[in-house]
Amino acid sequence: MNIIVIGLPGAGKKTHAKKLSKKYGLVYLSSGKLLRKIAKHDTSLGTVVNRYIRSGQLAPDEIAVRLMREEILKLKDKDIIIEGFPRNINQTHSLERIWGELEVDIDLCIYLKVKEQELIKRLKGRRICPRDGIIYHVEFRPPQKKGLCDKCGASLYQRKDDKKEVIKEKINKNKKNIKEVIAYYQNKEVLKTVIGTDEKIKKIQEKIENLIENEMN
Ligand code: AMP
Repeated sequence: MNIIVIGLPGAGKKTHAKKLSKKYGLVYLSSGKLLRKIAKHDTSLGTVVNRYIRSGQLAPDEIAVRLMREEILKLKDKDIIIEGFPRNINQTHSLERIWGELEVDIDLCIYLKVKEQELIKRLKGRRICPRDGIIYHVEFRPPQKKGLCDKCGASLYQRKDDKKEVIKEKINKNKKNIKEVIAYYQNKEVLKTVIGTDEKIKKIQEKIENLIENEMN
């Protein structure tokens, strides 16, 4: 089964894709995670990618597609869930070609739809554990001890692209792109929209699980 989770930054793609990966035994693939890993490397590619991530801009398609292609081909015959990719229509066509190479296709595209005001609130308060990758929120999911991970006690950090001055730009740029991706999957009849505004994570998760289980039957 091949699932992708799309949505604007802060929509909860990572949170839900990780939970779904555990529940249904799907391999979790995140373009953001792959790119952040590259950005730590002291290479020319690492420096370039780092610059895009820090400014909240998309990395060039060529780089994102190459990285994702390598990972997806490695996972041949595995059921996967992808979040963060595709981010625009060009990447959508590329993903289609990559799956074509493996003679498989997408089964489901879950679109997490969240109002812009809520996205801004979520991103501004987002804090992450550098060791476990657990995502906290200063208001909606605070750690027991301020600024420290509940699981390992590490100091939580704020992603550079979650700073106030970058968030707006990040959301605006993504808006136009995602519209085209949504239209593409709608046309392919694999798109399912899940409203994620004013709902608890658990409730949204249940909605997504119902969709997947309907798809499996
Ligand atoms: P994310 O973890 O999905 O929020 O991604 C963090 C950053 O990685 C984004 O702001 C982009 O700079 C970059 N990125 C993630 N996915 C992609 C993608 N599919 N194409 C280009 N850049 C991406």
